[in-house]
Amino acid sequence: MTQVVIAGAGPTGACLALLLAERGIDVMLVEAAKRFDRQFRGQALMPSGLDALKEMDLSTIAETVPHQQLNAWEFWIESKLLFRADEPIEAEGPPCTLLSQPEFLAAVVERAKACSNFEFVPGTTVQGLEKTGDRITGVTLSDGRQIATALVIAADGRNSSLRSKADLMLEQQSETKGNSSIDVLWFSLPNLPPVRKENVFYAIVENGHSFGFFRNSQNQTQLGWGLSKSSQSDASTTNWRDTDWQQQIIDHSPHWLAQVLQTQADPDVWKPTLFSVAVALAPQWSQPGFLLLGDAAHPMSPVRAQGINMAFRDAIVAANHLVPLLQSNADATQLDPALAEIQAEREPEIRRAQALQAAELAQGELLHNYPILRWGASQFAPIVGLGVKQSWLRRQQQLRLGVVQVELKV
Ligand SMILES: Cc1cc2nc3c(=O)[nH]c(=O)nc-3n(C[C@H](O)[C@H](O)[C@H](O)COP(=O)(O)OP(=O)(O)OC[C@H]3O[C@@H](n4cnc5c(N)ncnc54)[C@H](O)[C@@H]3O)c2cc1C
Repeated sequence: MTQVVIAGAGPTGACLALLLAERGIDVMLVEAAKRFDRQFRGQALMPSGLDALKEMDLSTIAETVPHQQLNAWEFWIESKLLFRADEPIEAEGPPCTLLSQPEFLAAVVERAKACSNFEFVPGTTVQGLEKTGDRITGVTLSDGRQIATALVIAADGRNSSLRSKADLMLEQQSETKGNSSIDVLWFSLPNLPPVRKENVFYAIVENGHSFGFFRNSQNQTQLGWGLSKSSQSDASTTNWRDTDWQQQIIDHSPHWLAQVLQTQADPDVWKPTLFSVAVALAPQWSQPGFLLLGDAAHPMSPVRAQGINMAFRDAIVAANHLVPLLQSNADATQLDPALAEIQAEREPEIRRAQALQAAELAQGELLHNYPILRWGASQFAPIVGLGVKQSWLRRQQQLRLGVVQVELKV
């Protein structure tokens, strides 16, 4: 019998599968996609995520796949630079780094394949959960196979279909409600001159619109345009597919950026992908024989890049709890309480990160909704910029370093 079936080879599932497999646990990792580059995947890793990579002994892989370090953050408001913060922000520690997720995931799975107790099943979905009494004891795959297992881990992302199949639900937390108030239109442009010399994350607020861009690990300029649900510019009311986005973004850019964007004449690069931002938390992450992990348990907002970092840290904590039990072939009476312990250990950090993401977004919403604030901030940028920067730096601390210490102990 396969000891563990993991559904989904995103950062949560792939890393946990490797940790378990390298410790002698029989693991089947089932991934719906045939290839890792089939859809957009986030890239930014905070120091907490980079530290988690070190804990998992994956730093070498991270160094060999395409990546870019961030040199600074710049906040522009009504064409004036409000402040700049250089990376790394902490006195010691790595800068925020953009890592190519498809290549990273492929390399993690490739390393796991060296373990004879690991099986990777790409291009296949986990379609159903098998039950014996109250306990989930197996899965049905889209290729028709039924696999019996001691534990099913659903790492199948924010739209997890296994979550509802296991009768678990998502709840939006009151302190994170602001987080769901944006959708993001995502553009991949050729590398733009302003981001060529150094890699700056630019946050631009202009005429009540906001967007951000940076150089991604593939040397493209990745631009995210916020569609605010509190205004009339959200995805349901905007005919975003037919909008002339080049002109729209130029019209809301500082002069130096507008000039550069004019040069991007290829209409294809101005066709965005829409990402609906979902932020929530499952009140209960487990059922007997079943555990939700990563975005399946707690869909994260893209604000300040938390999701992959949290996914890595979930994988480490899960391995700490599960490896000793699975190595000793513990029975259900020992395994099931450990699932609740994993949630208890991870939930406080997730709640805090989601609340901090909501607070970041609320700052943006204030500027979005109050032209007087934008005017004041831009007119008095040299005076207020320093104070705003200090307050921003304070707010970043836990978003960058994590809320608790996470160490791999197995
Ligand atoms: C626009 C946007 C930008 C983002 N940018 C960043 C960023 O820069 N940094 C960051 O840290 N986070 C970012 N995030 C969040 C981050 O992408 C997620 O939090 C993270 O990918 C979650 O990892 P996961 O492994 O839990 O889930 P996912 O990465 O979603 O992986 C789930 C996997 O499960 C597979 N799957 C689904 N259903 C099944 C099934 N039934 N059977 C088998 N396989 C299945 C999917 O194909 C997928 O590969 C961003 C999110 C958005 C929306």
